[in-house]
Amino acid sequence: MSSSPVHLVREFHRAFGLDIRDVPTKVSPELAAFRGDLLAEEAAEVAEVSVKGPLDRLAHELADLVYTAYGTALVHGIDLDEVIAEIHRSNMTKLGPDGSVTRRADGKVLKGDHYQAPDVAGVLRRQGWVPEDEPDAG
Ligand SMILES: [Mg+2]
Repeated sequence: MSSSPVHLVREFHRAFGLDIRDVPTKVSPELAAFRGDLLAEEAAEVAEVSVKGPLDRLAHELADLVYTAYGTALVHGIDLDEVIAEIHRSNMTKLGPDGSVTRRADGKVLKGDHYQAPDVAGVLRRQGWVPEDEPDAG
């Protein structure tokens, strides 16, 4: 299996006649809300089993959440793998040039002086997204 679930989720959407878009697109408020509700349900299931487990339930709900997130990206025409790569690029800039890591007391990795924010809009533009407030947005 490929390292990304994108092909699996696309197969699922094809098989069940769910929306698939190939260019980042604003969808109807009803569809957007429906996808948001699905994600909220799965996120709540992750939260429910995060502490009390059991571990197989946690693994199941984490997979459901990621699968649903990839499905939501597909519905909106977003290539989520490319967005994740950009988030990763940004996250890695939290590392100092000398390899140093700044942490908060609870262990959370903090942004250092060399941190670069992710350019998600740039990624979506390269995928063909035209923001609504731009003149050529049709
Ligand atoms: Mg679930």
